[in-house]
Amino acid sequence: MEILIIWLFFGIISAVVASTKGRSAFGWFVIGILFGPLGFILALVIQEKKVVQSEPMRKCPYCAELIKLEALKCHYCGTELSEEDITKAYNDYFGGIIGKRKAG
Ligand SMILES: [Zn+2]
Repeated sequence: MEILIIWLFFGIISAVVASTKGRSAFGWFVIGILFGPLGFILALVIQEKKVVQSEPMRKCPYCAELIKLEALKCHYCGTELSEEDITKAYNDYFGGIIGKRKAG
C-alpha cells in the first residue's frame, strides 16, 4: 500500500516541478505515476520550455533582418520606416483576412 502512496507522491512532485518549467502538469503527473522516482528525475532535468515568439515579425526592406511588425525604426540598420511601409507589412502579414489597417 505504501508503494502506491510513494508513486502518487512522485506523480505530484513531478507535476509540480514540470509545471514550474511551463510543461504539462497532468502529463508529468502521469509520468511520475508510471516511472516513480525516475519520472521525478526526468522532470528535474528537462529543459524549461521556451516561450514561443508570438510577436508578428517582418523583414526590414533595407537590411532584410527580422524586425517587429510595428517597428518604426529598424533595430539593425537604423532605417526609419514610414507608416506606409508598416501598413503594407501589416496587410501582407495578416493577408487581409483579419481586416486591413488604415494608413495614417
Ligand atoms: Zn534594417
